[in-house]
Amino acid sequence: MFTTFVHPQAAQRVQAVLRSTFLSEGKLVKEFEKRLSTELGMLHPAALNSGTSALHLALEVAGVGPGDEVILSPQTFIASALVIVQVGAKPVFADIQYQTGNIDPADIEHRITARTKAIMAVHWGGYPCDMAEIQAIARRHGLIVIEDAAHAPGATYQGQPIGSISDLTCFSFQAIKHLTTGDGGALCARSPELAREVMRRRWFGIDRANSPISEIGEREYDLVDVGFKYHLSDYSAALGLANLEGFHKRMQRRRALVKQYRAGLAQVAGLQLLEQRPDRESAHWLFGMHVENRLQFIRALRAKGVSASVVHDGIDHNTLFGGKRLELVNQRRFDETQIHIPLHDGMDSEQVAYILKVINQGW
Ligand SMILES: *Cc1c(COP(=O)(O)O)cnc(C)c1O
Repeated sequence: MFTTFVHPQAAQRVQAVLRSTFLSEGKLVKEFEKRLSTELGMLHPAALNSGTSALHLALEVAGVGPGDEVILSPQTFIASALVIVQVGAKPVFADIQYQTGNIDPADIEHRITARTKAIMAVHWGGYPCDMAEIQAIARRHGLIVIEDAAHAPGATYQGQPIGSISDLTCFSFQAIKHLTTGDGGALCARSPELAREVMRRRWFGIDRANSPISEIGEREYDLVDVGFKYHLSDYSAALGLANLEGFHKRMQRRRALVKQYRAGLAQVAGLQLLEQRPDRESAHWLFGMHVENRLQFIRALRAKGVSASVVHDGIDHNTLFGGKRLELVNQRRFDETQIHIPLHDGMDSEQVAYILKVINQGW
């Protein structure tokens, strides 16, 4: 289902860092951030040690704390809701759109209370949420919008890159994501002040740029609030920089493979493709769809050497988040019928043709 893309030049670049012995956060992290901004359109990206750190720090700088509520969809990895609990707030689950796996803007507003602080929009599989509708709701109620864009680097919505739209956007560079630093992430803040706060609080809360080292060799600063040790390291950034090479080419190939999948599956009975609108471009982290007789589908494909699997059913049933499957009609339908077939950077059109042939033989 997934592969880890490591650029052929990565070993050389990481080795150069090891030789230099400057391993921690330094000029390569800066260069990585600069290129995330110029090549992927991210606004003020701060490189961090994981996507989960990005989500946690986003909530911290947004001022989400004990007693607050954050609205999100259950169709995600547990990290999205876990960080909400970590800051003492409560995840409030809204239903999804069956045809996208993304939060349904029409199911948000009636869940807003006096305690609601933020809406977290998870771009399922890399397909952007209805951001215009979500932003409008947030503006009406004075809420912060945080995007969990772990699946969506390189995606665009109404011509704008994901990472430049909302107050805060979180990316993951974990090993099976599009762009990996081994483990890593980025947090983008739209406002320059918030971006500065992110930079400070990712490193203990010390304003590194404005805390000179004194003559006696001690950095001069005053710690005013709680910070974290969430920065990325240069040896990870070296891997990230190598993997950035050819990113757009690989994305183009993914798009071509998706096109081939969609054309080949359009007429297959018992199968429903997910939505694809012209106003947004998915990052295509996953190729998901809905099938009837899912278990038979999985078995039929497995017998021909093709993997097909569910990627995360709704997370609301976890004890930590309430312990029951909520009455969210589309989420429950999605849980029953979602299936994902292989899509990754190691694939070519012949493999897609083979998978299409297998599916067309029926299940
Ligand atoms: C991978 C992922 C995360 C967490 O990212 P890490 O880098 O593994 O911490 C968060 N949200 C979603 C939707 C993810 O897929």
